[in-house]
Amino acid sequence: MIITNNQHLPQSFVEMAKRDYEVAPNEYRVTSLLKGIRETILERRHDEEIEQDVSDMIWLLFGTAVHSILEHQKEGDNEFKETRLKIPFNAYELSGQFDLYNAETQTITDYKTCSVWKVIFGDYSDWKRQLLIYSYMLRLIGFEVKHGEIVAMMKDHSKRDAKIKADYPALPVQKISFDFSDQDYEETEYFIVERFKEITQAEALPDDELPICTPEERFNSGDKFAVMKKGRKTALRVLDDLQAAEDWKEANSGDYIDTRPGEDKKCKDYCSACEFCSYYREHVKEG
Ligand code: SF4
Repeated sequence: MIITNNQHLPQSFVEMAKRDYEVAPNEYRVTSLLKGIRETILERRHDEEIEQDVSDMIWLLFGTAVHSILEHQKEGDNEFKETRLKIPFNAYELSGQFDLYNAETQTITDYKTCSVWKVIFGDYSDWKRQLLIYSYMLRLIGFEVKHGEIVAMMKDHSKRDAKIKADYPALPVQKISFDFSDQDYEETEYFIVERFKEITQAEALPDDELPICTPEERFNSGDKFAVMKKGRKTALRVLDDLQAAEDWKEANSGDYIDTRPGEDKKCKDYCSACEFCSYYREHVKEG
């Protein structure tokens, strides 16, 4: 990746942005498995052409800084930290680095910097899956893992909102815990095997024929359906489901439904491979 510094930030920012772990040609990181296949393949294929400005990577650097500080603290008894695992997987190698493992409590921990909205919405399925893959790898080399926890640090937390809003996280840090079952591990193994099969197929395809990232992978929250009244600019009501919007329109004398396509937030703001993606060029860039 080419790192630019358009804002002339101190060189140390640039050096930190460059300090990334380089993967071997047959090696896939756990985090790559969790992205859309198209994004993962395009990122790898065009790594030397992708340009990113360091000012656009500040929150990424912030996360790295937090890890770097915690990594240098002494771990407790029975704990080991920031360990990179590499597990052969047929023609591939799966690599991943977890933050902390406690052999006594059989708990794996990962630190996350996130938006307060992540905690307000409370959907942690992606974090659980990531922890489960690390745990699955740890089990393969003989370490049992029964529990997982995320230490979520909310970088945009507001003390003021915490005082006045009922559903707002009270503190800027929260621990989210999971218990892992045998079924979780069966599903995790299935996920990894299937993902590598998809990667094998995708590696043979040209860029424009790669499977398009799913709406979930594109952070698309879905289309909305606005019940409109002739002569009025704003919607009477906006619903997530077309049938519900039709029913509401009939019951409340609406005139027509205006479909508002969901926004692909990942493609628009967070995908470093977007310039090499035909979906982005055709559906997002000009949109
Ligand atoms: S721009 Fe969107 S669809 Fe294309 S690779 Fe990135 S996330 Fe996937």
